[in-house]
Amino acid sequence: KINSPLEAYRYLPGTNCGECGEQTCMAFAAHLIDRSKKLTDCTPMLEQKFSKKLKDLQALLAPEIREVEIGVGEKAVKIGGDDVLYRHRLTFFDPTALAYDVWDTMPENELVERVKKIHDFKKFYVGNFLTLDMVAVRCVSKDPKKFADTVKKVIGTTDLPLILCSFDPEVLKAGLEVAKDKNPLLYAANKDNWQQVADLALEYNVPVTLFSPDDLDTLKSLAVTFAKMGTEKLVLDPGTFPSGKDLKKTFTNFLKIRRAGVEGDRDIAYPIMAVPLTAWMVQDDAVSASYWETVIASIFTIKYGDVMIMHSIEPYALLPQLHIRDTIYTDPRKPVSVQPAMYKVGTPDKDSPVLVTTNFALTYYTVESDLASSKVNCFLWAIDTDGIGVEAAVAGGQLTAAKIKKGIEDSGFDLKNDTTHNTIVLPGLAARLQGDVEDETGARVMVGPADSGRLPGWMEKNWPP
Ligand code: SF4
Repeated sequence: KINSPLEAYRYLPGTNCGECGEQTCMAFAAHLIDRSKKLTDCTPMLEQKFSKKLKDLQALLAPEIREVEIGVGEKAVKIGGDDVLYRHRLTFFDPTALAYDVWDTMPENELVERVKKIHDFKKFYVGNFLTLDMVAVRCVSKDPKKFADTVKKVIGTTDLPLILCSFDPEVLKAGLEVAKDKNPLLYAANKDNWQQVADLALEYNVPVTLFSPDDLDTLKSLAVTFAKMGTEKLVLDPGTFPSGKDLKKTFTNFLKIRRAGVEGDRDIAYPIMAVPLTAWMVQDDAVSASYWETVIASIFTIKYGDVMIMHSIEPYALLPQLHIRDTIYTDPRKPVSVQPAMYKVGTPDKDSPVLVTTNFALTYYTVESDLASSKVNCFLWAIDTDGIGVEAAVAGGQLTAAKIKKGIEDSGFDLKNDTTHNTIVLPGLAARLQGDVEDETGARVMVGPADSGRLPGWMEKNWPP
């Protein structure tokens, strides 16, 4: 396993030809380590003379935890692929995939409505949409035909990847016949049905979950058996026990599996499945069950659920889970930033104010949304502060009068000619830059409030200047 660009560089051709889109092989090596480029982007490496180096480097760059793909096309999800136990040591890759359940005894209209809700859900947050990833189709009827019909209706309603859920190989086979082109995940093989489910996974070439509740030896032995039979597209489910001390047992099992995998036990280095919907087994009312399901999902988003089957699609259950996932899977090495530029909010004209903020995404989108929701038409200048927020950027020297002047020049916006007021509004937390910005830009500088939520009120009192 290699972790540094220098080590990866030793395997590359070293010609700096630029075909990968980078100016040097060393720059490309750095992208290999942070996984923003693929080894096959270096086309010279595909030549015969480099075939051994290519193979060796591919093996050395492979993540400790195998990556498993579910679904096809744009909506396909990858799970696993991690190298570390602690996010701050590198980052976690492949966000926990969230599958929401439907079942084959649902009336058709309710089924279609629920699948549409799962498919359509999205919430804008810091420049991206938070969405749901998959549909888990559960067989409750025990009837292969009914299950297959349900899978067909789900496929007719969404192109999200599927999990086919039953311990009966006949039911799984019926579902696979309908979904064989969709690369669904099978759930699940256990110590009783493993032979038939392994045959199905191999015949249809699909990933499969191995289920062994609170018995890690059996889980490992199943994984070894499946690998020997010819498939490593495996997901491990050690059982999710939702109550009291059993939840602690679940937590311990997840830790043991991931620790062993990251520390080099290839036999068990697979993505892990959590099933928070088991909360519904122990709670006697729907709100408590949803609440507890979200608590369990949050725990195993942090440690180390790679894919989950969930039930609650109420916003109060979904939103905390989606936000915690977004936070845990944000790369801690890179500040979340927007492109430094002059943005228009609403339909500004020459009389509209020109406001300054930084290109830290959370700051930018908060300010932008406060202005847009209050229907303030303005120009909003996101200055390049390396993605750092206003207060820290002023203290650290990333937001200076010179940077603001450069931002103005780079944008091509001419304060004197493009506005009637030649005025800049600084954020309150950058008040101490007021004099310097006036000197550097020759513009009039006003200081706005420290909190962008107060901007609309501030505008009413202070604008036009
Ligand atoms: Fe180096 Fe390969 Fe990139 Fe060429 S394509 S610069 S050889 S890494």
